[in-house]
Amino acid sequence: MKYTELGQTGLTVSRLCFGALTIGPLQRNLAPAEGSEVLLRALELGVNFVDTAEMYDTYEHIRLALERFPHREEVVVATKSYAYTREGMLKSLERAQQGLGQEVVPIFLLHEQESSHTLRGHWPALEVLLEAKAAGLVKAVGISTHYVQAVMAATAIPEIDVISPLINITGIGIQGGSREDMLAAIVKAAQAGKGIYAMKPLGGGHLLAQWAQALDYLLAIPVIHSVAVGMKSIAEVEHNVAFFQGRRDLPAPEPATRKLHIDAWCTGCGKCVAACPNGALELRDGQAAITMGEQCVYCGYCGASCPEFAIKVI
Ligand code: SF4
Ligand code: SF4
Repeated sequence: MKYTELGQTGLTVSRLCFGALTIGPLQRNLAPAEGSEVLLRALELGVNFVDTAEMYDTYEHIRLALERFPHREEVVVATKSYAYTREGMLKSLERAQQGLGQEVVPIFLLHEQESSHTLRGHWPALEVLLEAKAAGLVKAVGISTHYVQAVMAATAIPEIDVISPLINITGIGIQGGSREDMLAAIVKAAQAGKGIYAMKPLGGGHLLAQWAQALDYLLAIPVIHSVAVGMKSIAEVEHNVAFFQGRRDLPAPEPATRKLHIDAWCTGCGKCVAACPNGALELRDGQAAITMGEQCVYCGYCGASCPEFAIKVI
């Protein structure tokens, strides 16, 4: 496994980052013990970087894996919260510490930032993270985003250490510009010293048919320090680790069978439409409907926002 410095954070991370969204209830919904086995295999094979979020509900999966891993102090867990107030972020920090079973949360990000405006709106929450960093409870702070404008805005903020942007070979899911626009913003962010780890390298499964090219595209970009790949089985972990170790004689993974399902009892409240970062949903005839299926990256964020449990990735 290759490792790299994550910008100027002082953290050394594996180029393959374990994306934990896939093992949690928003996607494969593995029981914590089962999900922890998948993560533990990745840790044993040299992956030391784990991406999660409060919303993914995978803290227990990760804690169980860390408890069984003899070098847990070397594992860099990055989490995220939508909190925008002091009180909200204090609670999020406490939830992460308790959920992960450790006082220090290595990386804490503001989840899904869109622009300088949303960053301003989240400033009280960011201040909590900066205070936690000063107290040694967090090692690096930053944002995750699908938006070119948010990468540019975060680059201009010296307090931000890490950016997790959406980028992939076809640009699927990128908001506010093209793949080239996002890449140009990422290059400037890295030049400013930010640690960069890419999300959605396979477009939520849309790019599985060109799996090797899609990963090689990102691995060839030196300013992308690590790539978060969602993995939901030990076989997928071993497959991805082998690829990141240089094997190029591997078959593409099985095509994704995921789809977005909307139940008949949808009340048309519109919360999922507002929650979708990719504009893939709309209200039609009083119910949620998929407007641009190719824009859906199967993140499951719509399901997490639905009060009726009427929309889910299956
Ligand atoms: S429709 Fe749902 S799963 Fe698809 S991108 Fe939007 S929030 Fe994510
Ligand atoms: S959040 Fe749930 S109930 Fe509301 S529109 Fe979306 S699917 Fe329907």
